Amino acid sequence: MGDLIVQARHLVTGVRDRHTPIVIDEGALFSRDGVVVATGTLDEMLKLAPSAEVRRYPKHAMLPGFVNAHHHIGITPLQHGSPDHPLELWFASRIPARRIDVYLDTLYSAFEMIASGITTVQHIQGWMTGSYDAIHTAATNVLNGYRNIGMRASYCYAVREQNRLVYEDDDEFCARLPDELGKRLAMHLKAQALPFQEFMMLFDQLMAENQGQKLTRIQLAPANLHWVSDDSLLAMQEKSEKHKVPMHMHLLETPYQKEYAYRRTGKTAVRHLYDLGVLGPHMTLGHGVWLTAEDIDIAADTGTCICHNCSSNFRLRSGLAPLNVWEAKGINVGIGLDEAGINDDRDMLQELKLALRVHRTPGMGDDVPTPTQIFRMGSEGGAKTTAFGASIGRLDPGRFFDAVLIDVDAAFYPYQDPDIPMLDALVQRAQARNVSAVYVDGEVIYADGRFTKIDRDSVLQEIHNTLVKPRTPDEIERRELGLAVFPHVKKFYGGYIRGEAKKPFYESSSAV
Ligand SMILES: [Zn+2]
Repeated sequence: MGDLIVQARHLVTGVRDRHTPIVIDEGALFSRDGVVVATGTLDEMLKLAPSAEVRRYPKHAMLPGFVNAHHHIGITPLQHGSPDHPLELWFASRIPARRIDVYLDTLYSAFEMIASGITTVQHIQGWMTGSYDAIHTAATNVLNGYRNIGMRASYCYAVREQNRLVYEDDDEFCARLPDELGKRLAMHLKAQALPFQEFMMLFDQLMAENQGQKLTRIQLAPANLHWVSDDSLLAMQEKSEKHKVPMHMHLLETPYQKEYAYRRTGKTAVRHLYDLGVLGPHMTLGHGVWLTAEDIDIAADTGTCICHNCSSNFRLRSGLAPLNVWEAKGINVGIGLDEAGINDDRDMLQELKLALRVHRTPGMGDDVPTPTQIFRMGSEGGAKTTAFGASIGRLDPGRFFDAVLIDVDAAFYPYQDPDIPMLDALVQRAQARNVSAVYVDGEVIYADGRFTKIDRDSVLQEIHNTLVKPRTPDEIERRELGLAVFPHVKKFYGGYIRGEAKKPFYESSSAV
């Protein structure tokens, strides 16, 4: 790769505070072998590297590449036939999802992410069936997808060892169902079972195989409190400390999960994790919609991160996250597109606008997110939650040269008053079609609508050719199972009771 100087009309290296981005007008960045060496004027960079290749983007802003801090799959649940149910019902609606080659599936969402300026993703895989070897192969194919397209990925396989469909033991829930249906569901859930030791074996094996990889790193993911035991959480904490890798854990996505935590532990989920000793800067809570004021203080005091999945929270009726309070308390927040964004794609530029606008609460105080703040969440904030940490997220010397070039002229056409600061206007106006180039590790992986390493058209055609075929017998069976189980899941939550109050779960919850 060697020495490269990239100049743009505006070079944004990062954020100083929530009102102040760091912008070098007519700025240039000098990178060597994919790592930023220095930033400044073009003359200054040429003095440092007189023989470097120089590329100019005279109409563009160059920003640190975005980080999608929470991602699972390619073809979206809606595409797979699941409408936007409340989360707990949506899990049941996912049973019929068709099988698709995970390598192609990974590329599908990678196309969307990269085209909106995302250079790093937190890929949380899970919900697979089959033997250890089959799961290891699937994990490897996901990692190969990212490496082949040239995108950075922080990968984890979500540990789920209990309560796989509802917030109750699998056997107990299956026993509530008509006999035959209960047996079929039990078999379906058993197929996803993997002993805890094998989850850890998978982590160890992937860690070893990824040594020396520049684009992929491995980390840990206890999937959610109801999905893991305390013993497993403690074992994962030990592993996280030993290997110095972060953890990402869905938590308190819905009021039902808040209630589950009270029933299991007699306290809030966050207090419970704190008492176990698993919180800290290495831990990111995915969603965190239903944290109490005390929970937020605990997260802030321990340096625990939160990943804000704004679109998902709306789509699956999870609620409105108290983002403004998290930010006021100084919690590090990343942004995750989760299964899919508000437009059923993985468009970070759209997600930034959504997160910016959703939290504009009434009043005149300076407590609503600024565009700069939202930009920080989408870059440096998310970076801190991944296994790449401070090696990405800003365009500072020593960090990887991962960047997005946005055509400012096109985004602002036909006019943008300069009284609005450039980055403020860009966060609010730029769309994926204004992304001209994406660099990862100092290399262009996307330019002018084309991916440089993978042919998008042929991948999409292959996906289409697979899914246009009729459902396989296994897929037909799972579709029938999903449809049959769905009303029982709904009934379960409707009749979920707390203490002596025999009311539907939501009403009887003291937690909401
Ligand atoms: Zn998720």
